[in-house]
Amino acid sequence: MSVPKIKLNNGSEIPAIGLGTWQSKPEEVAAAVAHALKEGYRHIDCAWGYGNEKDVGEGIRQSGVPRSDIFITSKLWSTYHSRVEECLDQTLSNLGVDYLDLYLVHWPVPMNPKGNHPVFPLLPNGKRDVDHSWKLSQTWEQMEDVLKKGKVKAIGVSNFSVKKLEEILPTANIVPAVDQLEIHPYNPQHELLAYLCSKDIVPQAYSPLGSSGSPLLKDDVIQAIAQRLSLQPADVLLGWLGAKQIVALPKSVTPARITSNLHGAVAGAKKLSKEDIETIDGLATSGKQQRFIMPPWPVDLGFDNWPDKVV
Ligand code: NDP
Repeated sequence: MSVPKIKLNNGSEIPAIGLGTWQSKPEEVAAAVAHALKEGYRHIDCAWGYGNEKDVGEGIRQSGVPRSDIFITSKLWSTYHSRVEECLDQTLSNLGVDYLDLYLVHWPVPMNPKGNHPVFPLLPNGKRDVDHSWKLSQTWEQMEDVLKKGKVKAIGVSNFSVKKLEEILPTANIVPAVDQLEIHPYNPQHELLAYLCSKDIVPQAYSPLGSSGSPLLKDDVIQAIAQRLSLQPADVLLGWLGAKQIVALPKSVTPARITSNLHGAVAGAKKLSKEDIETIDGLATSGKQQRFIMPPWPVDLGFDNWPDKVV
């Protein structure tokens, strides 16, 4: 089946549905990726930090789908903000590819590259060892460099609020192509999406189903819409994103779900009415606002709240 695409600000196109790979165990992710590509996915979302890129690469090779037909995204880990090319080279080698279609700054929080742990360096008081001397604009400069070298075709960010975007935009030569964020009906991010639209930055939705054990799939409103339109609740959640031109990145290692998420996302976007979309848009306001992904960055940075002051 052919998947709808969304145009990026560099002129290329990104498939509107991609397979997520976070928390996919190394021993199961190769089969999941191969199945997805055979079923018609053409977009895989990876990250150095997920620790499974070698197996994702294996799945890509097993699928038999040519590299040039696949949109591959990966992300720069926080201990590598001052060493962008080094992290990227590891990702390219792990995946067994010689370029990425999209490279993202995973979190707007640089961590000490010389700390006591390569992934999550900690201070003696137990907080994460954040590198306060490093500026995000310096990270972005290095992101632009790897783009110029042709190692990646587009660059973007993830978990960046307006405030964080405004730390890089004044000196950026290249505007981020995307901002990958937690977006679902309980965390619809309306204001941030309007800002991204004004800057021609495409939003990507992570945890579109609410991540593992999500209450979203059991939500009464979502279930009622699904039943009326003969869809699965997951189709309604993914279709809502598609209808709003937001890239959806559902993760699954279950073959039947991998297949149904792709077909359901396309069917959902077609079947949802304007009224359905407005109803889902308003769901968070009825006391249901909730984030599911909350790493302890605010505590590390000395803030009380999550996420407003950080990302
Ligand atoms: P999702 O919202 O995609 O939910 C994944 C969970 O839903 C898994 O437990 C999966 O189970 C289950 N599931 C999948 N399809 C269905 C279905 N049709 N019906 C019922 N359950 C289903 O969560 P993630 O948090 O994984 O987010 C998706 C992707 O976004 C990640 O994998 C990653 O690529 C990206 N991401 C990026 C982040 C960032 O900081 N940039 C942060 C978090 C995620 P099973 O696998 O067992 O089928």
